[in-house]
Amino acid sequence: MSLSTEPVSLAEVLSESRAMMEPQAAQRGITMTFPELDAPWFVNADRTRVKQVLINLLSNAIKYNRDRGTVEVTCSAAADGRTRIGIKDTGTGLPPEKITQLFQPFNRLGRESGAEEGTGIGLVMSKRLVELMEGVIGVDSAVGMGSVFWFELMTTEAPTYADKGELPTPAVREKVRAPGERTRTVLYVEDNPANMRLVEQLIARRPDLALIGAVTGPDGVALARARLPDVILMDINLPGLSGIEAMKILREDPATAHIPVLALSANAMPLDIKKGLDAGFFGYLTKPIKVAEFMEALDLAIEAAAQRKS
Ligand code: MN
Repeated sequence: MSLSTEPVSLAEVLSESRAMMEPQAAQRGITMTFPELDAPWFVNADRTRVKQVLINLLSNAIKYNRDRGTVEVTCSAAADGRTRIGIKDTGTGLPPEKITQLFQPFNRLGRESGAEEGTGIGLVMSKRLVELMEGVIGVDSAVGMGSVFWFELMTTEAPTYADKGELPTPAVREKVRAPGERTRTVLYVEDNPANMRLVEQLIARRPDLALIGAVTGPDGVALARARLPDVILMDINLPGLSGIEAMKILREDPATAHIPVLALSANAMPLDIKKGLDAGFFGYLTKPIKVAEFMEALDLAIEAAAQRKS
């Protein structure tokens, strides 16, 4: 498994995870508290994966808590430029011999939890994912004291363009629009809202283009079938289906097979790019977005789309 990271807003991921877990906590009268972040607080992560880890830790904190207990989530700056997310429960706590086994396969807490709780992954997978994001995970616990499960990821800045100076101005773009030319639709499948906003800003400068968005692989495929966009921009690490899997489904469907699909991914290794192009992507762009390259690839794809149609 390869995993590439990009700036992800912790404030967003925390609030989404909270909404998902609140019903489960409420069933047992458990009160959850979350930090009130006054900024988006970006960390280097894969958005889908960091959310899975958080859901796993919250789910354990509820499952192994006492009725009417509490779960306290904290977020703080840690050593070496990292951010620490802590999840403190009021359960029975763990003796030292259990702590050492916790992240090993084939123990109760670490076991894949399966469909029963619907939480997806266990502690062993959480550890693997955090480490793939170049983070660390651990627990502080003692019998009778409850447990604090925590993980740390690199703190980073909000995502931006790689070459901000080259943003086309709306005035310049107006000139290239032919009178009576129809609006082209671009579908962007992306689970990280921070990236969606960057692309929105670029498309907004193009009066000939309209943007529609989907957040998961399956939703992206469904929206492509329903709206038949002229061009599709596809993130690779997506929830539900990877961008490569979604691409294959679109290729096999005669209704969508002709639509050029551009990959836009944080996976920037040559092997990732080769895999993407082999899968049939029209082009493979890497984040952070290079504005000039992005606009050029988009124009080429739009041109190809027009030719494939005629
Ligand atoms: Mn993604």
